[in-house]
Amino acid sequence: MATEIKNITKFFGKTQALKTINLSIKDGEFIAILGPSGCGKTTLLKLLAGFDSPTDGIIMIDHQNVSEKNNSTPPEKRNIGMVFQSFALWPHMTVKDHIKFPLLHHQFLANDLKNNIEKRIDEVLNIVELQTYANRMPHELSGGQKQRVALARAIAPKPALLLMDEPLSSLDAELRMEMRREIQSLHRMTGATIVYVTHDQEEALAMADRIVVMNNGQIQQVGTPREIYRKPNTEFVAKFVGKANLIHGKWLNEVTFKPYSVSIQSNWMNIEVSSDLRAKNLCPIRPEQFSLSYTGEGIEGEIMNVQFQGKEIHYTVNIGSDLIAIHEDSQNKPFYIGDTVYVNLNQKNNVPSLITI
Ligand code: ATP
Repeated sequence: MATEIKNITKFFGKTQALKTINLSIKDGEFIAILGPSGCGKTTLLKLLAGFDSPTDGIIMIDHQNVSEKNNSTPPEKRNIGMVFQSFALWPHMTVKDHIKFPLLHHQFLANDLKNNIEKRIDEVLNIVELQTYANRMPHELSGGQKQRVALARAIAPKPALLLMDEPLSSLDAELRMEMRREIQSLHRMTGATIVYVTHDQEEALAMADRIVVMNNGQIQQVGTPREIYRKPNTEFVAKFVGKANLIHGKWLNEVTFKPYSVSIQSNWMNIEVSSDLRAKNLCPIRPEQFSLSYTGEGIEGEIMNVQFQGKEIHYTVNIGSDLIAIHEDSQNKPFYIGDTVYVNLNQKNNVPSLITI
C-alpha cells in the first residue's frame, strides 16, 4: 500500500538524526534506503515501523496517519512486517510455528487468510522453499534457512508494508547473492511493498525499483538504479554509488570539461552532469569509462596500484591533479605499478577519445 513520509524530522537530544525527509512509496514498490553508517537509515525504518515517533512530520501508511502526536500507532497496530539483520527467531518455536504466529496475531489479517491458516502456512513454506523443514527448530537450520524463516514470518500475513533492515549482512558472500535473488523473486511473487535498508550499494542497485540515497540525515537523491548511477545529483552520490572518479578541472561550456592539458566532452560519455557537480568544477567519470594505453593521446599518468579481480583489473592511476580508478577488462594487456600510461575515454561503444585544445 502507498506510504507517505511528509516533512519528517527526528532529534535524539541535540543530535538531529533526520532532517526534513519527504518520500512517497508506491504500492508494490521495492525501495532501498542506501547510505553510510550513521546517516539515519535505521531511524527512518524505526519510525515507519512505529518503534519510535518522529519529532515532527507525518507518516501515512495505507492512507492512515500512524504518527499522530502523543497517539502514535504502535507496531502491532500497523499493517507491517519486519525482517532484521539478526533474524530474531524464537529459539523454542519450529519453522511452522514462526509462520503461524503472525497469522494468529496480525491485526489486519484478511478473512480469507484467517479462515485458511494451514493453507497459507503451506503457501509461504513453498515460497521460501522450506517445505521439508517445517518441523525444525532454529538451531537445526543454516544461516540462509534462518533468514528464509524470518522472511516467511514477515510475509505470511500479507502486510501492507515489508520493512527490512540489512537482512543479508550477517550472511557470507555467496549466500548473500543467493538471498538477493530470493528476495527479488519473493517481491515478484507477492507484489509486496518493500522498504529495504542497506549500506551496500551493489545490493541496492541490484534489487531496488528505486533507491533513496541518504547522507547525514538527509535524502541526497531518489531515483531508479540507472538514474542514480548515470545521473548522480551530488558529489556524495557520485562517490558513494559506483565510486565515480571526480576529476577536478573547469567546465568550459555545457559539455566540455578541461582537466588540464586535454578536454573531455561529457556528451560522449553518456553521463549527465548535475549543476551541483558543475558548480564545484567536478566531472564524474566511472572507472569503466576510462581506458589505458602505453602510447598516444590522453592524460599522462603513473600506475600506482593494481588489483586483479577476475573479470576486471582495477588500477589506481596518478594523473597529477587526481588519483583515479580505472577498471579494465582482464583480457586486455596488463599494466604494472610504476608504468607511465595514457588515460583515455573508453573506445568501446564508439566513444571518441579525448581532444586536445
Ligand atoms: P548504521 O548503518 O550504522 O546502522 P544508520 O544509517 O542506520 O547507521 P541510525 O542508526 O539511524 O543510522 O543513526 C542516525 C544518527 O542518530 C546517528 O548519529 C546515531 O548516533 C543517532 N542515534 C540513533 N539512535 C539513537 C538513540 N536512540 N539515541 C541517541 N542517538 C541515536
